[in-house]
Amino acid sequence: MIEIDGSEGEGGGQVVRNACALSLVTGQPFRITNVRGKRSKPGLMRQHVTAIEAACRLGGAHCEGLTVGSSEITFEPGRVQPGEYHFAVGTAGSTGLVFQTVLMPLVLTDAPSRLVLEGGTHNMLAPPFDFIAKNFVPIIERMGPRISVRLVRHGFYPRGGGRIEVDITPAPLKPIECVERGALLSRSATAVFAGLPFDIADREIKTARKFLSDWPDNAFAVRELPAEQGPGTILLLEAAFEHVTEVVSGFGKLGVSAESLAKTSAQRMAGYVASDAFAGPYLADQLLLPFALAGGGSFTTVKPSQHSLTARDVIERFTGQRWVFEQQPNGCHLVRK
Ligand code: ATP
Repeated sequence: MIEIDGSEGEGGGQVVRNACALSLVTGQPFRITNVRGKRSKPGLMRQHVTAIEAACRLGGAHCEGLTVGSSEITFEPGRVQPGEYHFAVGTAGSTGLVFQTVLMPLVLTDAPSRLVLEGGTHNMLAPPFDFIAKNFVPIIERMGPRISVRLVRHGFYPRGGGRIEVDITPAPLKPIECVERGALLSRSATAVFAGLPFDIADREIKTARKFLSDWPDNAFAVRELPAEQGPGTILLLEAAFEHVTEVVSGFGKLGVSAESLAKTSAQRMAGYVASDAFAGPYLADQLLLPFALAGGGSFTTVKPSQHSLTARDVIERFTGQRWVFEQQPNGCHLVRK
């Protein structure tokens, strides 16, 4: 039984999701105490419960302590069954985080799977659909599997109601090198909004334009969704390079002005573009799991985040692999086994 103190490192929900995925793939049971111990409301929230339930369903696993608010869980993995699964994350819990939990176990089976995930598709503090589709999945596909993801309907916090569909054709994961991002091909900034005044999206775009002043005029656009998919807004900034597309998101939130969310995300995108890194900070913590399951490969990133360091530690507990972050002369970090 692998024992994990959930308050160590980042001390959030990602420890739980990575542990479930690693347990299903390696067949090792685990116990987490102090679940989400560093969060202001510790213990499992609804979306973590759904992610673990999903892991239990497709992995024939059993989990003790699986209730909202629980601070200790024990997880006994079973046999992962490829197939068709439908998971509804209550309220607007993130579909992206459920996807993160179940993808690797399904990728490493021997038959295709189809997932339908309902809930939030563009949630703060979670990978939005566009990040999954353009940033994360293309890299996993280079490792061997085929993954097709479709956004059927947007779901914003707090209303949710979004839907994504995923088709997975499994394959063994092969180690790949993701060191160079290659030449810049295109850039875009899109303010997506639903059920809110046009003015909000317009102000997001005007601010993004100010902070990304070297981006071409035709890179900026506003996209209105049917009002019943809202209320909600997200500013999506994309920089497509030959070997990777970075997606930076600014999530609309009550109390945060359009200008402020656009300024923060534009500055983050400008920082990424100015660096030589392959992976931005979010992609980096999410690539560690598939790279470890491939047993090697490497990628460069900006400064390692606490999420990345924590993912690295959880991975070591299950696989014995020690991934390192080596600072390079250009300021990037090379992540390798
Ligand atoms: P909590 O932080 O409340 O425990 P959580 O389950 O959301 O909850 P975290 O441990 O914070 O857990 O993990 C969040 C995950 O979402 C990380 O893998 C992170 O890379 C990813 N993520 C967060 N924001 C973004 C974003 N803007 N784009 C892509 N991925 C993101």
